[in-house]
Amino acid sequence: MTNNKQLKVLFVTPELVPFVKVGGVADVSSALPKMLAELGCEVRVVVPKYGAVDNRKFKIHDVVRLKDIPITIGDKDYTFSLKSSFLPSPKVRVQIYFLDNELYFGSRKSIYGDALSGEDYPDNDMRFAFFSHAIFELIEKLGWQPDIIHCNDWQTGLVPAYFKALKKRNPASETIKILYTIHNFSNQGIFGKGTLKGLGLPDSMINENGILHGNKVNYMKAGIQFADFVNTVSPGYAKEVMANKVISSGLDELLKKKKKKFAGLINGIDESDWNPKTDKFIPKRYVLKSIDEKLENKKALIERFDLEGDLNEPVIGIISRLTEEKGIDLFVDSFDKLAKMKVKFVVLGAGQKIYHTKLEKLHKQYPHKLGLLLGFDNELAHLIEAGADMLLMPSKYEPCGLNQMYSLVYGTIPIVRKTGGLADTVSQFDSAKGTGNGFVFEKYTAGDMIKSITSAMKIFEDKGTWNKIIANGMQSDFSWKSSARGYVELYQNILNQ
Ligand code: ADP
Repeated sequence: MTNNKQLKVLFVTPELVPFVKVGGVADVSSALPKMLAELGCEVRVVVPKYGAVDNRKFKIHDVVRLKDIPITIGDKDYTFSLKSSFLPSPKVRVQIYFLDNELYFGSRKSIYGDALSGEDYPDNDMRFAFFSHAIFELIEKLGWQPDIIHCNDWQTGLVPAYFKALKKRNPASETIKILYTIHNFSNQGIFGKGTLKGLGLPDSMINENGILHGNKVNYMKAGIQFADFVNTVSPGYAKEVMANKVISSGLDELLKKKKKKFAGLINGIDESDWNPKTDKFIPKRYVLKSIDEKLENKKALIERFDLEGDLNEPVIGIISRLTEEKGIDLFVDSFDKLAKMKVKFVVLGAGQKIYHTKLEKLHKQYPHKLGLLLGFDNELAHLIEAGADMLLMPSKYEPCGLNQMYSLVYGTIPIVRKTGGLADTVSQFDSAKGTGNGFVFEKYTAGDMIKSITSAMKIFEDKGTWNKIIANGMQSDFSWKSSARGYVELYQNILNQ
């Protein structure tokens, strides 16, 4: 690595742990900048100041000189202010800027939509166009210019377009390179053409080689078109989205065209949060040598959900957004069969109403077989990772997936479908060779999933072999260090382009 010290990165994200989280992008946005800072980069992070972010709890202060900054988008005038804080870390200081606008962020209790109805806010198009545009003004005013702007997901997809469109206003900005990371192709920021009039983009960008895709406005497509480089979060998923219209939600052809400027880079996990040796949320901490103590956590989990059966029966956990892509259909549709097996389940999840309803019904029917918490509960997620014997991820698609990596370091054996990042991180256990760290099924069918669960349950009975699988997982390195090194290399390659 050369010249890390000088590498300045502005990390632009819609979500950030511990302040605001809906999905995995929030974890990445905290862990990666911290690791980049450890590797010697100067990193600052920008995130919207949603109403749900607690100023007092997180010691968030106004940046007095950056108050009420005017911004014109199209023919409308707005202002934004900056607030600031630091990422919690004993090792490094990573500055965070909260971009504050009362109308678009401060007044909203939720992040993307009404929590009760599950409907997206109707002005999400302008909310995140505003956020993206304001990054340009921010750089003008900050007195600190990054070498790289690292954007994440559809909410920041317009940043590269605005930098191209506005560059004459700040010629110094022309040296900045933009990396656009896509954490999931299933949310692209697609809006009707009515959105265009509010965006203030030049006509030259408003076509199928620019921001339009299939005659609709598509923020992710704009990101892919105008960024200097694009990546997604695992090599497996990168291949799948170039090859498959469904997985890429229609962007496969474009990605194939851009393949010289498109790569897959696997996420890591934040070991300061997810480590059974230091985890402050679990009743009993453990390491590989003391793996038997994991059982204390299993007891706590079983008690919490009042699950039946003896302690020798395996407990399988699911921690997931409850959406179609996560394969929840396979699980709920086959639960009557699963309930006949000598196994118990704990599901923690939130998402589509249809799955809430189905899971509640199953829980009523099998209250001691299926533990259920519908909602978001980080502490419980830790207890499940530590207390379950296996973790099920039957995803239809999985860009990277974090839970399977958490479960590997917690000695909780993943049972996953072979897709995207799951295929990159979990390998089928081979009892003859003693290799592999989990159970992998290929076809997206309940039959294949049940077969995989059954074979895991069989091996579970042989403690010696089971402990071998546990060791294979717990000894592997899923830390952010190697992934962050990959990003530093990528930044340097982009700067040398
Ligand atoms: P995705 O980003 O697609 O939701 P990932 O596996 O990459 O999936 O990341 C999900 C993250 O969110 C993990 O950190 C997981 O533990 C967490 N998570 C998901 N659902 C819940 C929930 N209901 N309660 C607590 N944590 C959750």
